[in-house]
Amino acid sequence: MIIGGGPAGNQAATYAARLGAEVVMIERDVVGGAAHLWDCIPSKTMIATGGAISFSHRIGGMGLAETTPTVDIESLNRRISGIKDHMRDDTTELLTSQGVEIVLGTARFTSPHSVSVATAEGERVIKFDSALVATGTRPRIPDWCQPDGDRILTTRDCYPPRVFPESVTVIGSGVTGVEFVHMFASFGADVSLVVSRQQVLPGKDPEAAAILEDNFLSRGVRLLKGARATEIERSDDGVVVRCDDGRQVRSTHAVFAIGSVPNTDGLDLAAAGVEVDGGGYIPINHHCVTNQSHIYAAGDVSGKLPLSSVASVQGRKVAEHVMGLHTVEHRHLDYDKAASAIFTEPEIADVGLAEAEAFALGRKIRVTKVPFATTPKALINNDPRGFVKIISDPATGVVLGGSIVGQHAAELISVIALAVTANLTVTDIVESLLVHPALAEALAQAAE
Ligand SMILES: Cc1cc2nc3c(=O)[nH]c(=O)nc-3n(C[C@H](O)[C@H](O)[C@H](O)COP(=O)(O)OP(=O)(O)OC[C@H]3O[C@@H](n4cnc5c(N)ncnc54)[C@H](O)[C@@H]3O)c2cc1C
Repeated sequence: MIIGGGPAGNQAATYAARLGAEVVMIERDVVGGAAHLWDCIPSKTMIATGGAISFSHRIGGMGLAETTPTVDIESLNRRISGIKDHMRDDTTELLTSQGVEIVLGTARFTSPHSVSVATAEGERVIKFDSALVATGTRPRIPDWCQPDGDRILTTRDCYPPRVFPESVTVIGSGVTGVEFVHMFASFGADVSLVVSRQQVLPGKDPEAAAILEDNFLSRGVRLLKGARATEIERSDDGVVVRCDDGRQVRSTHAVFAIGSVPNTDGLDLAAAGVEVDGGGYIPINHHCVTNQSHIYAAGDVSGKLPLSSVASVQGRKVAEHVMGLHTVEHRHLDYDKAASAIFTEPEIADVGLAEAEAFALGRKIRVTKVPFATTPKALINNDPRGFVKIISDPATGVVLGGSIVGQHAAELISVIALAVTANLTVTDIVESLLVHPALAEALAQAAE
């Protein structure tokens, strides 16, 4: 029995069914989860359209006359809904083709081996041998301001965009915050970003963060660094965001991007004897097992890396474990080797050991960095921004990590991610016969 039809839940359901389990999956909103409905898919769809607008500003250097596209909000909304519906239908079809029973409703535990589901047709009791909690998270809301879904928004209120904000203040400069800054700026909004530290993307490669900050500044984004928003005043035509250092910024809209909270309240986990930590997340071991040996947790609710990609692989690992495959062929998930990307302009992606982390651990590393400007493809694409950085072991050449800033960074990082996971060396990358001309040549140069 699986609660939650996001990437963790639906992957676990598909694999467990394929391995011969009888599976029921309960979902209260949409099969595909928050990932499809509000998070990864709509945000990246809007960013892709915004990217087309930015690209139109660069075509002047490519032998074409510059042109300024106008946004057709109706067709943009149709595009977002079309992609979301397509993905929901595909996922539903895959699940049902494997024999998974999908129950639409809200589940809560009633005992260690049963849940009660509130469905449109009434209450239904489902008994199970094993369960997976994959209920995800929702946006964190500060205790000093209640979003109104009109001018004071969470990230979930931004789709579909009924109107584009003329001006927007984004509060929070982590991955979600900077992606929203980039998205609104691409569509021509006047954007301000409240950054509580001295650098956007705290914890990420400072060189990558600096390139992003420069890009934001060049697009007129105001960065309020070292400031914490403490108050928002709303009027008929806008909002004023006030910060703890006395600064304030006026805009038509404000968006909170200050993290998330787990969807564990309302599940009555205590009835199943499942423990949560102080933040409400469900602690798990390396097999995603909770303190109850027959109940698993996966995806964002497990408090590990909040990434759709990680949730999917966790779901698959749960299916393998519950069906007893872990004794045959099972690799533990190494969260330190998860690749991640930030879909800004330029894109930023990283994987494995970071330079700062290596210094903090006193670990000897070799860092090699190559700017994309040295590759013909970057010049052909008229976008030579960014670099590839590879971190390797100086004694063995084994690739330990890397970061990429620039066009297609989210795709290119896969090469370094594979090397990190498979313990490949820089020589393995150098000796791969790569395509020319391609941005991947910068990878080979950095490896060399
Ligand atoms: C704006 C934004 C953009 C993002 N972009 C990316 C990205 O580009 N790439 C990436 O890898 N990650 C991205 N993420 C993170 C990604 O969305 C999450 O890591 C992913 O959704 C986690 O999947 P999940 O299966 O844990 O949960 P979810 O996708 O949150 O699904 C959980 C499901 O459980 C259901 N549920 C909850 N409680 C109950 C209940 N009691 N009964 C029945 N059903 C219930 C919910 O309705 C929901 O559908 C983004 C996040 C945000 C906020």
